[in-house]
Amino acid sequence: MQELEQRAAWDGKIFVDGGFRAPEGGETLTVLDKAAREPIGAVGVASTADLDAAVGAAKAAQPAWAAEPYDVRASILRAAAAALQARADEVASLIVRETGSIRGKADYEVGGAANELFEAAGLTSRAISHIIPSHDPGRYSIAERIPRGVVGAITPWNFPLILGMRVVAPALALGNAVVLKPSPETPISGGVVLAEIFAEAGLPAGLLQVLPGGVDVGEALVAHPGVSMIHFTGSTRTGRKIAEVAGRELKHCSLELGGDNALVVLDDADVDHAAMIGAWSAWHYQGQTCITAGRHIVARSLYDRYVAALAERAKAIAVGDPTDASNGLGPMINETQRDRAQGMLDAAVSAGATVVEGGTADGLFFRPTVVTDVPLDSELWAEEIFAPVAPVIPVDSEEEAIALVNDTPYGLVNGVVTGDLARGQRVAEKLRSGMVHVNDSTCLDEAHVPFGGVGASGLGGRAGGDANIEEFTETRWISVQRGQVEYPY
Ligand code: NAD
Repeated sequence: MQELEQRAAWDGKIFVDGGFRAPEGGETLTVLDKAAREPIGAVGVASTADLDAAVGAAKAAQPAWAAEPYDVRASILRAAAAALQARADEVASLIVRETGSIRGKADYEVGGAANELFEAAGLTSRAISHIIPSHDPGRYSIAERIPRGVVGAITPWNFPLILGMRVVAPALALGNAVVLKPSPETPISGGVVLAEIFAEAGLPAGLLQVLPGGVDVGEALVAHPGVSMIHFTGSTRTGRKIAEVAGRELKHCSLELGGDNALVVLDDADVDHAAMIGAWSAWHYQGQTCITAGRHIVARSLYDRYVAALAERAKAIAVGDPTDASNGLGPMINETQRDRAQGMLDAAVSAGATVVEGGTADGLFFRPTVVTDVPLDSELWAEEIFAPVAPVIPVDSEEEAIALVNDTPYGLVNGVVTGDLARGQRVAEKLRSGMVHVNDSTCLDEAHVPFGGVGASGLGGRAGGDANIEEFTETRWISVQRGQVEYPY
């Protein structure tokens, strides 16, 4: 990526019909190194004419791709994984700069994206259609799963490679074509890299298009009549808008949205262990993951010790340039996100909250923060913060903890820390969220698990394994009459 001749292929360009080319309008978007605030490069910004061309190419290429033998599709997905693995170091360095994450998170993304490809390769040979019984013995009925056609994918900036890949890889595996619109913050690791590795793997032209751009490109993609379904990962606010348009167009729409996730520490937990799980869940990648624990609900008997242990851990974390391996946290993605989080924190403090540790940002470098006495009606408690801020409150019983966890429209992930696994599982079953983890971080994901949320955290859109078959195919009933039918006229 750093090498000039390699960059020249995509600099200022979009990826349509198998190649990088300048966008129709000639508009470009400069991509920043989030810590150094220096340009990494520029990509093209797609216009509506580019979108028409991309959707046209995707529609033209998709039927032949769907008709390919499964092993042809699988081998291209495996070759794409190999192409990514061969560039693992370079792509991870890019992710560090483009997303402002420490190297460990970037390495996780590259490994996770390769796993998405391997899992998707396995999907191609799954027996996903089935024979259904019929009242008429002569009628042979098949419920066939067939590709949806052209999948529009809209992705966020926090895990751009993995969140792009978790749509592109299974959608292609199941015979679809994809038009991907990555976030304008991260169009290189969230778009250009995918285009490059699939081109290297020999994916036929037209099956993957990468159209960087902002809200207008996203809106046009959702509304485009040639796009059969939309897979969106991003905020609940944007998800609602997308669902409205997709609903009007009667278009299948999968939504992976935000959360206001809780970590419950029960009274039999080991406090230091709980604080370690709490610290990682709250501050990992500056708290900018959808599965961050933004609410810490702690048994009153452990509360003071938990707050003190969390504050100790916060103090010990160095915050700075993520290319320096001694730093545990890098910058916030941009000023808007920092100001939003600082505003939520300041408003909570004005309403009675106490900052125990952190609470300030130096430029985009937000200190890991512990805050107590948080009013339950403050935005800091009731909304996704998306910053390294851990609000902690005490509770007097397991029932109170469960009620508090469930007192939110969101339902992405929750966590329980306990010394008693059976109790942890019982509590987990009472928490209303798509995912619950006992004695582990809320920040877990693997390529084959049914990742996703309920309520305001998602609609359909479960990622991984069988869930991908639900998302990226539709059902067709085919019947064949093998006897002789007789009708009254
Ligand atoms: P965002 O909603 O602002 O933007 C996401 C994407 O949607 C971007 O590509 C953006 O350009 C595009 N977009 C914005 N408005 C649009 C519109 N009206 N029509 C079509 N496209 C539009 O989110 P973000 O700030 O990029 O990402 C952070 C959010 O994503 C957080 O809320 C986080 O919880 C969520 N997220 C969820 C998951 C999950 O799997 N549930 C994973 C990662 C992030």
